[in-house]
Amino acid sequence: MSETTLEALGGAATPPAQFGHDALVVCDNLVRIFQSGSVEVQALQGLDLLVDEGEMVAIVGASGSGKSTLLSVLSGMDAPTAGRVRVGRWDLMAMHARDRVAYRRQMVGFVWQQTSRNLLPYLSARQNVAMPMTAGGRRHRVARAGELLDLVGVGHVADRRPQEMSGGEQQRVAIATALANEPQLLLADEPTGELDTTTAREVFDALRTANREAGTTVVVVTHDSAVSGLVERTVAIRDGRTSSEVLRRDAGGDVTHEEYAVMDRAGRVQVPREYRDALALTRRVRLALEADHVSVWPDGSAR
Ligand code: ADP
Ligand code: MG
Repeated sequence: MSETTLEALGGAATPPAQFGHDALVVCDNLVRIFQSGSVEVQALQGLDLLVDEGEMVAIVGASGSGKSTLLSVLSGMDAPTAGRVRVGRWDLMAMHARDRVAYRRQMVGFVWQQTSRNLLPYLSARQNVAMPMTAGGRRHRVARAGELLDLVGVGHVADRRPQEMSGGEQQRVAIATALANEPQLLLADEPTGELDTTTAREVFDALRTANREAGTTVVVVTHDSAVSGLVERTVAIRDGRTSSEVLRRDAGGDVTHEEYAVMDRAGRVQVPREYRDALALTRRVRLALEADHVSVWPDGSAR
């Protein structure tokens, strides 16, 4: 084949843009199967999720729906069984052990639910935050740690050890620690799970500050159903798949919440149970394309 023919072919066949090519986080048909003995658990069953740079997204779902499994995959601690997962330039499916270490140091920060798991008990708050820092000399790191503690509203505990702080203060120090290396993505798995409502709100505010002031993209798992009022997007996971999304819109002081069903890439949509029950929608439904929407009728309904 001559060079001109190759050029002509290249020009004619522009490949279609890949799913989520401009998103920061792309989960494409993600599967994670755990094998324990003869029992197989499908924790993620073809999960699709896109998160744009700069977003703050809450993930909700019943216990056992796969939320922690998803966050473990995104943090680089666990590898999926199948599917595609990319964060920034990092392809988490094809990542080698050495890259995994670099990814976890440079790209993501992580906050756990158990306050004791986030901080070293024998170090002060400031030392905890400075500890993972890789850039700059000691003096720079200590100053930077102080700034991060101030950012999340816990500058006053800088010289205290974890056991001398409240649970909410510990979680906010944990957020500052997770931000130590300026990660692009901050992951938090039920960071307010052990806290009362008021304290939980302060921790949530700290995550939002990280998102707005530091520009960090935040994915936070929570079982607090009131969170959809606090974040722009809430994604619900059911049985290892994303099932619905609630978008919060703030139009000149008027806040509205709209619930969306999630369509997967094959075009599948889950019809909520109450809709199915109300119209006895079962195995087969009739679809019709209208000018600006799609109608769904029960099988056997009059045309
Ligand atoms: P969630 O965080 O939403 O409560 P998880 O992601 O922890 O859910 O768990 C999803 C499913 O996967 C559950 O059925 C759980 O028992 C199972 N699972 C999670 N981790 C493991 C593991 N390491 N080995 C076996 N099964 C697991
Ligand atoms: Mg969990």
